Amino acid sequence: MKKCDICGNELFYDENDKLFCPDCEANEFLETFDEADDRWLEKAHKVVMPKTKPITIRLNVYDIEKAKAQALALSIPYQTFLKDIIHKKLANG
Ligand SMILES: [Zn+2]
Repeated sequence: MKKCDICGNELFYDENDKLFCPDCEANEFLETFDEADDRWLEKAHKVVMPKTKPITIRLNVYDIEKAKAQALALSIPYQTFLKDIIHKKLANG
């Protein structure tokens, strides 16, 4: 687990797989909030959006190949495709 150099809290990955500190981002957001700056919504979204963590899992090679083929047909990265399958399955209990 990587920690923030500033506050020591856990770092998370954003949607571009870049590490960031939600706590420091939230503080910065509050300190620099300017309603006239229409980028505030984008900044707020980053702070509150679901966080991700990298994990390592072993998958059946045939499942990986099937996922790659189906993701290719949809023109999306296969890891995004797998994340979507897991997310939907978990949401449906
Ligand atoms: Zn921090």
